[in-house]
Amino acid sequence: MEIFDRKGRMIFPDVERLRKMAAEKGIVAQEKKIWISQVFCSNGHPLVRPENAKFDNEPGIHLICEGETFWQSVYLSPFQADRRKEYKTEFKMGEILHIYCPECHVHFPKFAPHDCLAEAMYLALFLDQEANFYNTVCVCNVWGCYSSFLRLAGEIFSEARSQKSAR
Ligand SMILES: [Zn+2]
Ligand SMILES: [Zn+2]
Repeated sequence: MEIFDRKGRMIFPDVERLRKMAAEKGIVAQEKKIWISQVFCSNGHPLVRPENAKFDNEPGIHLICEGETFWQSVYLSPFQADRRKEYKTEFKMGEILHIYCPECHVHFPKFAPHDCLAEAMYLALFLDQEANFYNTVCVCNVWGCYSSFLRLAGEIFSEARSQKSAR
């Protein structure tokens, strides 16, 4: 395998491979911004739809979030590390949410614990309809925690962390 290109620059085949895979999974990288154009529940329902609330003209990710006393539609910005959300009513800061698909109500599976709160978990949204844990967007289930990461082919592709914990 070639290690240097014709101009003597080093070739990073894995970066290219990841970039190609990202594009195939609907991840758009433009002008230093990364955003997601498709994401699915484990039953294959699309959560990014043209009629969703928009963020800089891109449709958001539609989720149902349920707290202790009520549930509502929440639209997350599709842009990585963007904290904007569209919703009607504030949950309590630090409230643990049940998050599920607006169409079939399947809950998003727990992927890993998050250390912002003792019971906090990263939930997995799927980047394709195969719905496996290799290609996911993981979001924390705590209201007020903005930590998330994008996982491609089982590796972290990009990550956003909350500055301070939700406690
Ligand atoms: Zn669904
Ligand atoms: Zn968290």
